[in-house]
Amino acid sequence: MSSDDEINLLVIVVDVNPVFWGQQAQRDPEFTLSKCLDAIMVFGNSHMAMSRTHKLAVIASHCQDSHFLYPNKSWKSGDNGEDEASSCGDGKYELLSVANKHMVEEIKNVMSKTEVSGNSNDTLLAGSLAKALCYINRVSKEVEVGQETKSRILVIKAAEDCARQYMNFMNVIFAAQKQNTLIDACVLDSDSGLLQQACDITGGLYLKIPQKVALAQYLLWVFLPDSEQRSKLMLPQPTHVDYRAACFCHRNLIEIGYVCSVCLSIFCNFSPICTTCETAFKIQLPQMVKPKKKKLK
Ligand SMILES: [Zn+2]
Ligand SMILES: [Zn+2]
Repeated sequence: MSSDDEINLLVIVVDVNPVFWGQQAQRDPEFTLSKCLDAIMVFGNSHMAMSRTHKLAVIASHCQDSHFLYPNKSWKSGDNGEDEASSCGDGKYELLSVANKHMVEEIKNVMSKTEVSGNSNDTLLAGSLAKALCYINRVSKEVEVGQETKSRILVIKAAEDCARQYMNFMNVIFAAQKQNTLIDACVLDSDSGLLQQACDITGGLYLKIPQKVALAQYLLWVFLPDSEQRSKLMLPQPTHVDYRAACFCHRNLIEIGYVCSVCLSIFCNFSPICTTCETAFKIQLPQMVKPKKKKLK
């Protein structure tokens, strides 16, 4: 079996949080969501152009849901879009121009349809990652017998972490680790402890880019090579990983806490009954129980 026949699937999860991108457009009109998507399309095209066995999927992670930008439902599975592609005669590789067209149309749909409701401004990143893993699983089942798939996920993270998703996020990370799926993270703004852990556990690369406008360059330079090629390159040094866990009671990140000995739930305060598995702890409270006179000496 040669590695030429190996399917190399790259799933890009892009954070399209409308609150973040709205503020970003005001802060820095040089780098907007459409500029970010341009960079992603350049990167996605480069990935697909490298080999015919290179496959691409792009998922937009919004506040309440996640959408496939490419391939989407109108895209017939199995074909490479030849029917549609024959219409564009500008000499560009048809697969790429069709993919780009789909992505542009879908992102317009996503951003115009969904409105932010009330207090949930957090990106549903854990859900999008789960969707990516499901898609990878499906693709790996659909390949011909004897054909291998190698897949990885690249998260383009914009908005801040949401500690409320800690549990879902960790479950997704461990599922990815079990599936041998690498998670890379390209962070545009504030550091993400959750993604640092995801990259560290799955063997991916975590990079907070110093300059947002240079996104395309960072993507091509750091994230285009796959894990085998990376060992031969000089890449940015791995960052310090923030391994703090979020307590299950308040979803605060804590360094020291109480852990249930039965279900391993983490709490910031002591409670005699675990709220997750309802185990009652038999703990002696020596100072409280016997304050009476001691017969020492
Ligand atoms: Zn707590
Ligand atoms: Zn418990």
